[in-house]
Amino acid sequence: KPLVAIVGRPNVGKSTFFNRIVGKRVSIVEDTPGVTRDRIYADAEWLNYHFTLVDTGGIDLASEDVLLSQMRAQAQIAIDTADVILFMVDAKQGLTAADEEVADFLRRFKKRVILIVNKVDNYPKLDNYYDFYALGLGDPWAVSAGQALGLGDVLDEIVSHFPEESRGDEEEDILHIAVVGKPNVGKSSLVNTILREERVIVSDIPGTTRDAIDTPFQEGEDRYTIIDTAGLRKRGRIEDESIERYSVIRTLTAIRRCDVALVLVDAQQGVTEQDTKIAGYVHEEGKSSIIIVNKWDLIEKQTNTMEKMRKQVLSDLSFMDYSPVHFISAKTGQRTQKILDMVKANYAEATKRIPTGLLNDALGDATAAIQPPSDKGRRLRIYYMTQVGVKPPHFVLFVNDPELMHFSYLRYLENYLRKTFGFSGTPIKFSLRARG
Ligand code: GDP
Repeated sequence: KPLVAIVGRPNVGKSTFFNRIVGKRVSIVEDTPGVTRDRIYADAEWLNYHFTLVDTGGIDLASEDVLLSQMRAQAQIAIDTADVILFMVDAKQGLTAADEEVADFLRRFKKRVILIVNKVDNYPKLDNYYDFYALGLGDPWAVSAGQALGLGDVLDEIVSHFPEESRGDEEEDILHIAVVGKPNVGKSSLVNTILREERVIVSDIPGTTRDAIDTPFQEGEDRYTIIDTAGLRKRGRIEDESIERYSVIRTLTAIRRCDVALVLVDAQQGVTEQDTKIAGYVHEEGKSSIIIVNKWDLIEKQTNTMEKMRKQVLSDLSFMDYSPVHFISAKTGQRTQKILDMVKANYAEATKRIPTGLLNDALGDATAAIQPPSDKGRRLRIYYMTQVGVKPPHFVLFVNDPELMHFSYLRYLENYLRKTFGFSGTPIKFSLRARG
C-alpha cells in the first residue's frame, strides 16, 4: 500500500485535511492488548486506490529554531518513508521562511512532492499564486480543508503518482526484515551484527548525517533488505515530545514494509508495555515475526532459565504466541547467525498455501471434535473453507450466518489449523461469508 505523508508547519490545517480524507474509516481489526491507534496513521481510499496517510506533525512549538528543526525532521521522515509527500502551506498567512527552507530541502530528493495551499477561502481563487509557484514544487493545489473544497482534485493528483505495480516485481525476491523495539534494546547492535560492519551513511545535505533506513545485503543466493528503525533518535536535535511521534511513525512504517519483523525484547527487563505495543502493531499489520530476546549475555543462568523466560515472554505477548522466541546477544554474537535461517523459515510459513481438500478435511475434524457455537437455538454451520491469500494466510469460511460465530471458536479453529499445518510466526486471518 502506498504511503502518503503530510508535512507542514503547525496550524496550516494538516489534521483537518487528514480527517477529511480519512473520514471515519479508521478500522481496528481486532483488539490487541496495548495497542492504541491514534490518528497519526490511517488507511484511506480514493477511486479504488488504497493508501495510508501519515500526519507527521502536530505539536505546536514555541521558538522558530525548534520549529525549523522539527520541520526538517518531519520532511526527512517523509522522504525516508513516503511514496508521495504532501507539503501543506497556509494561504491566509502566506509563505514563511520555514516554508521556504523546507521546500528547499524537499526539492533535493527525487520524491514526488505535491504542494497544497490550504485555507483558500474564496476557492478556487488563489491569491499571490506566484509566491507559491516560487517554491519550485510545481503547481500549487488550492484547497479548503475546513470547507472540504478542492480535495477531490488533490486526491486525483495524489493517486496518479502512486508507483506502478511493476515496481514491486523487481523487489519480489528480496526479503524485507524490520528490526523493531524500544530504545536501547539493541536494534542497531543487532543490525550491525547481521551486516557484520559498522554502517554510517552520510547524506549529501550539508550539516545532516543520517542513518539510511534500508540496507540491502546478500547471503549466498538470498537477498535481503534490513529496515532499521533506530536512526532518528540519535540525532538528538528534536524536541522530546516529537520523538515519540517520530519513532511511532518510523516503527509503523518499517513494520508495514517488512516481510518478517524481528521484535526485540531486553532479557533483563522482560516484556514491557512499550514492547507489547510494538509487538501489537506487528500482529495487527498481519506480519510474520520472531521475538528476539537480546542481551542474553547479561543473564545469570540456572537450569531452565531459557525455557522459563520463553514461557513468560509468550504469555506476556499472548496475542503473538504463534511466534518463535530466540535468545541472543547482539554484543557477543551468540546465536545471531541463526536469525537469517529463522527469517527464511518464517517467510515460508507466511507464504504457504494449503490445498482446499486438506483444509476441509481439517475443518471436518475440527468441527467434529468441538461443535460450532449456537445462539437461541440456531447453530453455526461451516460448509466450506478455502485459503484466499498469504502474508498473512487468509481463510474464508462459508457459513449459514456469520453472526453466530464466536471469537473463541475462531481461536479454536486457528489453533487447530496451526496444529495441523504449522504457520509458525505468522498471524492468520479469517473472513466469514454467508452462503444462503
Ligand atoms: P537501539 O537503541 O535499540 O538501537 O540499541 P543499541 O544497539 O544502540 O544498544 C543500546 C545499548 O545496549 C548499547 O550500549 C549496546 O552496546 C548495548 N547492547 C546491545 N546489545 C547488547 C547485548 O546483547 N548485550 C549487552 N551486554 N549489551 C548490549
